Amino acid sequence: ATPLSVTVSTGRAARMGVLVRSAEALETCGKVNAVVLDKTGTITAGKPTLTDVLPFGKWRRQADDFLTIVAAAERDSEHPLAVAIVATAAEHVDAADAAQTTDFQAIAGRGVTARVTFRGLPHTVAVGNTDLIDDLDVDMPDVTSDTSEIASETIHDTNLDAIIADMELLSQQGKTPILAAIDGHLAGIVAVADVPKADSRQAIELLRKRGVEAVMLTGDNPTTARAIASQVGIDERHVIAGVRPERKADEIAKLQSQGYTVAMVGDGINDAPALARANVGFAIGTGTDVAVQSADVTLMGGSLMGLVHALDLTHAAMRNIA
Ligand code: ADP
Ligand code: MG
Repeated sequence: ATPLSVTVSTGRAARMGVLVRSAEALETCGKVNAVVLDKTGTITAGKPTLTDVLPFGKWRRQADDFLTIVAAAERDSEHPLAVAIVATAAEHVDAADAAQTTDFQAIAGRGVTARVTFRGLPHTVAVGNTDLIDDLDVDMPDVTSDTSEIASETIHDTNLDAIIADMELLSQQGKTPILAAIDGHLAGIVAVADVPKADSRQAIELLRKRGVEAVMLTGDNPTTARAIASQVGIDERHVIAGVRPERKADEIAKLQSQGYTVAMVGDGINDAPALARANVGFAIGTGTDVAVQSADVTLMGGSLMGLVHALDLTHAAMRNIA
C-alpha cells in the first residue's frame, strides 16, 4: 500500500498545481540530483517575438515582401518560432494575407519548406537553421575579402562572412537567428527572442542550494543557449545545445550512465521521448498534450518553482517514511 505520508504529499502537491501521476514518481523525486530543462517554453516563456528582419540583396528594397513570403512559409507550422513570425507579419505588413502556401513541410529541429505564391509569382522557400540550409541546394553569396562591415549592428552586404557575423551577434543577444532561402538563394535573416520566465532564475538557484544540478537541453544554437543560460544562472558547462529532437533522450541516458538520477522538464512534442527516458518526467501544463501524456508529473502553473516544491515535498515525505 502507498505510505500515508506519500498520499498526503500528493494531495499537498496538487494544491500547489503539481499533479503527480503515481506514488512511485513522487518517491523518485526524492532521489533526483540532476534536472534537465528544455529551453524554449520551459526556462523561457515560450512566447517569442520577432525582433529583427534583415533581408539581403534585392530583398533589401522589398523588406515587407520578404517578411510576407517568410511568414507564408511558416503559416502552417505550430513551432513557437513560426507563431512569432506569422503574428508579427500579420500586424506589420498590409499584404501579409495575400500569399498562398502549398507543399508545406516541417522538418523537426530544423525548420520548414514550402511553395509560396505572392503577387502571382511562385517561390520555393526554406526557413530554418543552418542545418536546414546545408541540406538544401541553396546558393551562397561570395565570401568577399572586404571585412569592414562585419560585426556591424545591421547587415549591409550579402557576403557570407558578414551574414555569419550577424548571426553570431544576434545569438549573443540571446536571440535565435533563422535563415530564409527564396528560390534557391539565401535571402535574409529573421531573429526571434524569447525571455526567461520571471522565476526561472530563482528556481534554478533553489535547486542548486538543494544540491541538484540544472542542465539546459535545447535544439537551439550554442551561442543563443549560453546567452539564455547566463541570464538564469546555469553554468555554461551545463548547456547541451544543437541537439536534434531524436537525440534528446540519448543525452538523458548519458547523464544516467554517469550515475545521475535525472528529472527532465519539457513542454514540446520533441521532448516526449526524453521525458519518458528520464527517471521522472515533468511536463509544463501549458505545453503540448503529447508532453503531458509522456510525463509523470505536470506543473500546472508552468513555473519551475513547482519543480522545487515537488522535490521539497518528497524529501519531506521520504524523511517521514525513514
Ligand atoms: P527547442 O529545443 O528549443 O525546443 P527545436 O528542436 O524545436 O528547439 O528546434 C531547433 C531549432 O530548429 C530552432 O532553434 C530553429 O533554429 C530551427 N527550427 C525548428 N522549427 C523551425 C521553424 N518552424 N521555423 C524556423 N526554424 C525552426
Ligand atoms: Mg521546446
